[in-house]
Amino acid sequence: KNNGKQLHILFFPFMAQGHTIPMLDIANLFASRGHRATIVTTPLNEPSIRRSVEKFNDRVSSEIATRVINFPTLEEAGLPEGCENMDFITSRNLCDELVPNFFRATTLLRPQLESLMEECKPDCLVADSFFPWSTAAAAEKFGIPRLIFNGMGFFAMSVLASLSASEKVCSDGEEFLVQGIPDRIFLTRRQLPEAEREEDEFLVGLFGEMKESESKSFGVIFNCFYELEPTYADYYRNQLGRRAWHIGPVSLGSSNRGSKNRGNDDQECLKWLDTKDPDSVIYICFGSMVNFGAAQLKEIAEGLESSGQHFIWVVRKNPGDPNEDWLPEGFEERTAGRGLIIRGWAPQVRILEHEAIGGFLTHCGWNSTLEAVSAGVPLVAWPVQAEQFLNEKLVTEVAKIGASVGVKEGAVYGGIVGREQIEKAVRRVMVGEEGEEMRRRVKELAAMAAQAVEEGGSSYSDFDDLIGEIQSESCCR
Ligand code: UDP
Repeated sequence: KNNGKQLHILFFPFMAQGHTIPMLDIANLFASRGHRATIVTTPLNEPSIRRSVEKFNDRVSSEIATRVINFPTLEEAGLPEGCENMDFITSRNLCDELVPNFFRATTLLRPQLESLMEECKPDCLVADSFFPWSTAAAAEKFGIPRLIFNGMGFFAMSVLASLSASEKVCSDGEEFLVQGIPDRIFLTRRQLPEAEREEDEFLVGLFGEMKESESKSFGVIFNCFYELEPTYADYYRNQLGRRAWHIGPVSLGSSNRGSKNRGNDDQECLKWLDTKDPDSVIYICFGSMVNFGAAQLKEIAEGLESSGQHFIWVVRKNPGDPNEDWLPEGFEERTAGRGLIIRGWAPQVRILEHEAIGGFLTHCGWNSTLEAVSAGVPLVAWPVQAEQFLNEKLVTEVAKIGASVGVKEGAVYGGIVGREQIEKAVRRVMVGEEGEEMRRRVKELAAMAAQAVEEGGSSYSDFDDLIGEIQSESCCR
């Protein structure tokens, strides 16, 4: 075994925050073990990636490089100018019109990625699952392993792999029991990810290619830790027979986003939190893609106000946004001192790690879920789309570290969650014994997460194994 060999890994993240952020953390993890990492991206995404990478490079001896490939021209891609990532699409509510074109545009990147591999001769390609063609590009053309990163946990991946054709077409409101998996989990069709509902031909095709590409790949990198979902990590590997490595939570240790790696926290919201009691503030954020309309935002405002809790609420609407009338009249005056609204982007990991935070109202995106677990914060689960309903089940029914708001179906179906529902779920987590019990359990998991990424921990050793396997592949070539 070629133990000492320095590897060069090429990373190709999908152009959405929830995919890029953890992949950069993974690149940094490789670099912190002395390997070389090169991140491939497009012109408009490069500046923010470079900023993150520059922060990493202060601390890791080995360089992380970025390389730019050009996004297809407007005529080729059928996308408006400036559209090189999902933020562009979701913030303008243009998903229906642009998502298929966006995915098609990414397939046009293949020749450029291949030339780059020709030039860099990396030992391995770590590419997002949304680029199914990259398995063939790496493995067939250059004979190097392609690792997949899809930003999901073992529970969600196990459920998705266990769904049968009949469940996907059963009638909308009807609950079905997921067959085969370790727990009794019920779902409805409208809680499944878009592609699994088999309504959109394009997405069905893409996800079919993704599954096939996964089966041909070297394996999947999971941003999670064994102790959070042990039966599902085992199920995924042993029952389903898939190759996988869990190396997370990547927001711990390797990341530049947590409080451990920073000096003074000078941001307004963190100073504001310093004035609050431990576990007294609920943090509300729906990730980087969810873009609620005015009616839903109003219900959230009312629910928060009547919950009587202190809160930090991240809203993806800017001050200049013409659509500002979602705030109930006098809301900010009435909740002054008790609530803080952040318009735009929040330092989420540092907020969650602040001792004043006692709960997190979240859409259950996998990164957010794991960041809450790592910080020992119980969740109020409000899934919206993708695999978020599955993450909700893990949180509320398997790990029992959160309460459900009670959303019955994906947001595409247009339902609005009412203020009473929101108030009730927030209070379940923030006030009383049930919430305390969830907090106790999630703090135990947070301690396990911290241990998992330390030398000798479960994620640390799995990462060692992964490096070893890439090294032996590379020396056999
Ligand atoms: N995030 C952040 N500030 C924000 C919103 C999101 O730092 O204001 C980060 C968050 O910490 C997480 C990622 O963006 O790492 C969102 O990923 P997630 O999987 O939770 O949701 P998605 O955006 O993919 O729906």
